[in-house]
Amino acid sequence: MADPIQFHGLRGQLRENEPMSRHVSWRAGGPARRFFAPADLEDLSLFLGQLPEDEPVLFVGLGSNLLVREGGWRGTVVMMYGAARAPRMEEGLLYAEAGVACPKVARFAADQNLGSAEWMTGIPGTVGGALAMNAGCYGGETWDIVERVVTINRRGQLRRRGKEEFEFGYRHLELKSDVASDGDEWFASAHFRLPEGDREESREIMKALLTKRRASQPLQLPNAGSVFRNPSEGKTAARLIQACGLKRLEKGGARVSEKHANFIVNPGGAGSAADIEWLIEHIQQKVEEDKGVRLMTEVKIVGDPA
Ligand SMILES: Cc1cc2nc3c(=O)[nH]c(=O)nc-3n(C[C@H](O)[C@H](O)[C@H](O)COP(=O)(O)OP(=O)(O)OC[C@H]3O[C@@H](n4cnc5c(N)ncnc54)[C@H](O)[C@@H]3O)c2cc1C
Repeated sequence: MADPIQFHGLRGQLRENEPMSRHVSWRAGGPARRFFAPADLEDLSLFLGQLPEDEPVLFVGLGSNLLVREGGWRGTVVMMYGAARAPRMEEGLLYAEAGVACPKVARFAADQNLGSAEWMTGIPGTVGGALAMNAGCYGGETWDIVERVVTINRRGQLRRRGKEEFEFGYRHLELKSDVASDGDEWFASAHFRLPEGDREESREIMKALLTKRRASQPLQLPNAGSVFRNPSEGKTAARLIQACGLKRLEKGGARVSEKHANFIVNPGGAGSAADIEWLIEHIQQKVEEDKGVRLMTEVKIVGDPA
């Protein structure tokens, strides 16, 4: 079906019925009815300004924390990865657009002799996704180092917002309830404040961190990182899942990883989004029955069932 909207002046890629399995790290999932990969932020602004007010919009970075059900996204997916200029320094702050991959920010920070961003090398997502999720690892979290951000709204208007306008915690971020907003806002860019560091030291930290990840996570198979949030300090989801004997549990082509019980792997993209969701629900049920803990997902599940 031809798109009923005639868009004007766009430089990015606009597609219909784009399989989201191509754009999420699980390599499974249904199509996006409309899919736009902007050329840059100006292009994104032009596009959003032409969308109807009630169009469901989903921003996607690298899809490393996302499950799109088989029925797909009945609306527009905006694919941010790639729509970004390289990170740069501005007034002593590290500036990165939302579509930049986190490991690139980590490397750039190290090159500038800045510390405290090394952990970002282990996050296979974008700056936008990291801001939305308050991604973090090894003691570092995204909003610990944010100074300010720029958001973009449904009309394509940019707005500068300070860190103090947001409430954030473990894998959680929202605008404070008393902050004025005229509806949906997504992240366009961020300025990070980082302390002075040492290039060689940062490189060593990043190397050690990646080695540790390779040893403990099934990185060679399609996955979306930790599926569940850790229920409390010291009580990890992985340990609970393992204690329930759920490692290696399979459904379709997907299975609970034998290397890390909080990961669901999907070798060769053989499993469907429904298989992955079945495993998620089965784990939740079993852990609740056996351990009395309701695990909450860290991954975002969107779209319609088949
Ligand atoms: C192997 C592996 C290891 C991982 N390790 C970690 C880890 O240690 N710590 C951790 O926190 N996470 C980890 N993750 C999860 C994931 O990488 C992070 O959550 C990451 O921040 C997601 O970024 P993304 O760009 O892929 O977001 P996506 O998966 O594309 O989207 C995630 C959410 O962010 C929203 N979003 C994306 N871009 C924007 C934007 N510009 N504005 C507003 N909302 C947006 C989406 O709508 C969605 O709700 C891991 C994932 C994998 C595959």
